[in-house]
Amino acid sequence: MSCFSMRTGLVMAMAAVSLLTCLPASASKDKPVIGFSIDDLRVERWTRDRDYFVEAAKALGAEVNVQSADANEQRQISQVETLIAKKVDVIVIVPYNSKVFTNVIKEAKAAGIKIISYDRLILNADIDAYISFDNERVGQLQAEGIVKAMPHGNYYLLGGAPTDNNAKLLRAGQLKVLQPLADKGQIKILGDQWVKDWSPEEALRIIENVLTKNGNKVDAIVASNDGTAGGAIQALAAQKLTGKVAVCGQDSDLAAVKRVIAGSQTLTVYKPIRLISTEAAKLAVQLVKGEKPKFNAQLDNGGKKVDSVLLTPTTITHDNVDLLIKDNFFTKAQLGL
Ligand code: BGC
Repeated sequence: MSCFSMRTGLVMAMAAVSLLTCLPASASKDKPVIGFSIDDLRVERWTRDRDYFVEAAKALGAEVNVQSADANEQRQISQVETLIAKKVDVIVIVPYNSKVFTNVIKEAKAAGIKIISYDRLILNADIDAYISFDNERVGQLQAEGIVKAMPHGNYYLLGGAPTDNNAKLLRAGQLKVLQPLADKGQIKILGDQWVKDWSPEEALRIIENVLTKNGNKVDAIVASNDGTAGGAIQALAAQKLTGKVAVCGQDSDLAAVKRVIAGSQTLTVYKPIRLISTEAAKLAVQLVKGEKPKFNAQLDNGGKKVDSVLLTPTTITHDNVDLLIKDNFFTKAQLGL
């Protein structure tokens, strides 16, 4: 063997070795590492999302690094930066503020990391996929349920967090039902307000003021989730209006389902969290492996049309709470039945 070919052989062997040492990125496709950045684990529903997601990801051979930002915009961005530095394969984000991820997602994409927007749509950013429930449909179900219970009267619209794109989709769905009724004078919309951070305390304060301003002449409160519905119902209770005003919510939080059974809340909306989290874990692993996930919608996030999976919500009233037991969301004992 000539000196030249020996050297070439050596170089090739060394190249092969260094190629091998570069391999962890592709090796991780067999055991993907998923970053899960959640807005706020202090809210009941997100702890379920986390638990089911981790369980589903493990079953698919993936590892999950969970972070909670506790409703802090800057903290969530730093947590995503840390996940990028750790070279996870994909980051699943429940954004606190839908509008602040453009740059950090650019960094992630430059590092070859896939991004999934979970439940709430991240705006103006190059995300790979979005998975949620059909939020406009949730809003529609909320309004339809309230109109059924209170076909006439004074309505107040209690929106979600202004930083959450879902709050706007919910409002759009609610107005699809309510605006035509307001236009023909069947109902009167007294006013509307967004509730910062979806805070129940803020909702309580807003409804206290609405009741004072309108001499308690309020017939329906279209609350956008169960937490804020809880705040509104506390304000109603202080005026001895419990059960007299129609109130909706969403999430089927334990306290809310108990209120629906007791009659102080008209309805909640059920979104099977096990389904969204299991589907999201599957989606994350598929994207890492370069497989083609199945999508059923596309949503414009201001920057692109995002391939999306939108799941179906269901109304829960006094008449069908047993659906939650059948679906193993709660046990009979938990609901006091
Ligand atoms: C979710 C709701 C939740 C709310 C507050 C929304 O984006 O869709 O299920 O109640 O955030 O955390």
